[in-house]
Amino acid sequence: MVTISNFSILQPPAGFNEPVKDYAPGSKERKSLQARLAQMSDDRIEIPMVIGRKELTSGDIYETVMPHDTKHVLGDVHQSSAKHVEQAIEAARKAHPAWSALPFEERMAIFLRAAELLAGPWRDTINGSTMLGQSKTAHQAEIDGACELIDFWRFNVEYAGRIYAEQPISAPGMWNQMDYRPLEGFVFAVSPFNFTSIAANIPSAPALMGNTVVWKPSLTQSFSAHYLMKLFQAAGVPDGVINMVHGPGPEIGEAALASPELAAIHFTGSTATFDWLWQKVAENIGTYRFYPRLVGETGGKDFILAHPSADVDAVATAVIRGSFEYQGQKCSAASRVYVPSNIWEPLRERLAGEVPDIKMGDVSDFSNFMGAVIDGRAYKKHSAALEEARSDGNYEIVAGGEADDSSGYFVRPTVIKTDDPKARLMREELFGPIVTTYVYPQDDWDEAVDLVNSTSPYGLTGAVFARDEHAVVDAKHRLRYAAGNFYVNDKPTGAVVGQQPFGGARRSGTDDKAGSMWNLIRWVIPRTIKETFTPPTDYRYPYMDTEELDRP
Ligand code: NAD
Repeated sequence: MVTISNFSILQPPAGFNEPVKDYAPGSKERKSLQARLAQMSDDRIEIPMVIGRKELTSGDIYETVMPHDTKHVLGDVHQSSAKHVEQAIEAARKAHPAWSALPFEERMAIFLRAAELLAGPWRDTINGSTMLGQSKTAHQAEIDGACELIDFWRFNVEYAGRIYAEQPISAPGMWNQMDYRPLEGFVFAVSPFNFTSIAANIPSAPALMGNTVVWKPSLTQSFSAHYLMKLFQAAGVPDGVINMVHGPGPEIGEAALASPELAAIHFTGSTATFDWLWQKVAENIGTYRFYPRLVGETGGKDFILAHPSADVDAVATAVIRGSFEYQGQKCSAASRVYVPSNIWEPLRERLAGEVPDIKMGDVSDFSNFMGAVIDGRAYKKHSAALEEARSDGNYEIVAGGEADDSSGYFVRPTVIKTDDPKARLMREELFGPIVTTYVYPQDDWDEAVDLVNSTSPYGLTGAVFARDEHAVVDAKHRLRYAAGNFYVNDKPTGAVVGQQPFGGARRSGTDDKAGSMWNLIRWVIPRTIKETFTPPTDYRYPYMDTEELDRP
């Protein structure tokens, strides 16, 4: 089939942020979402893998449940074997020639259509499945599954347009061109449980740039992943461009990384998993046809640093929202707080007063601020940390401290205080609703800044609170490498696509900034083309002429 492109230099539409709906009582959107939640809760669905044009079942079932009601099975996920992974790689290979040759405006139109479908008729399905499967409140689902994902697609289109427009200069007599080729093999896209938007962006950012993909979502996000795959299809993503396989990470990873056709990994998840993937690639390096691109956004131990001039109420609000929204399961969640001694008492009072009142429970009850943590593994890790805080003399529990898994994986929002700035709970990522505070003498600001910088191996997000502008300048400078997303007088969570490109360095990843040009550029291998209009016809250069010959 011959595809004829538009004879125009096209300007892709500029990105803009999707307005956040508030789901207030009596609103149309609240009624509509509640109706969809009721429908989805009543169903128990089959979740097949999708390879090429086929939906495949294996009978090797993983039951995906509501984390806040663990007896309620939402779906039966058909897990893939190594053979299925090979089939998915083959489907991606077959789809590559047509997709990589499609004019870019057609690819862009597909993802802009996906954005509009999600902003309209698909909103309740994606938000509802995110709420039930990942235990997000309506607000947390809305800012993730709807708004952030719509923003990813709209802004990625604008950024792709800017990349394609970036061309070299041409000297007289020639035309130099840059051809932004898609990668030659397949992209292995591996996504985490905690953001539906990230799960979709992981395969779709490379696909937008003309690549074909094998996508492995997290098993605990497979319910909303199933609907994302259906949304890709509804938007017109051709068969084989995004193939979805399910199963335990190491088995799928082993099979995917064994292929010589691996062109790249697009990963978001824990540091340990990214280490594993990187090591595996290193082991296999001689067997690949290409040097695989490795793009990974990983863990964090995100900080709030208050200066003695900080506003106590602003710090308290940032701690509560920044540490406990979505049960602290945001990679950007605050989990260590440095407080000067002069504001500790009023801060403690506010936290001890407000945190116990935070409402937690079934996310279908819209009065709850928090739901459950994702699974039994997370619950065990958080319960062990709470037990450590209770039994180790290094710690004191200021608020919370309880956990209960009798109906769902519920961990109460917890504030811990320690006198040891290097204690485990100040260093290691827990990925739960647990925040540890260290109170420093108010005259030791310099030392506190050094502690923030040196205590954890990560460098993802961080916030400084100060009314003294000199302190802000000092923190910005001395914590330059401590966070890829640095906030001044704001909580360290809630990055918005197009406004605060997201990602960190050190052990938090490759800092390619999801939802930005810097991420998209990783999915192309540019080719330089030079065309000369009147090529020379004699190999001899003028300097080779003798002076005698030149004389008239
Ligand atoms: P995880 O590392 O356990 O899993 C992530 C994905 O990797 C899942 O799909 C999992 O099945 C897969 N996986 C695991 N082992 C694998 C292997 N050997 N080969 C291939 N795939 C494998 O992470 P998670 O629990 O889903 O997510 C939480 C983590 O993600 C936290 O550490 C959090 O900080 C991080 N995170 C980071 C960002 C960021 O932007 N930096 C964003 C979201 C989450």
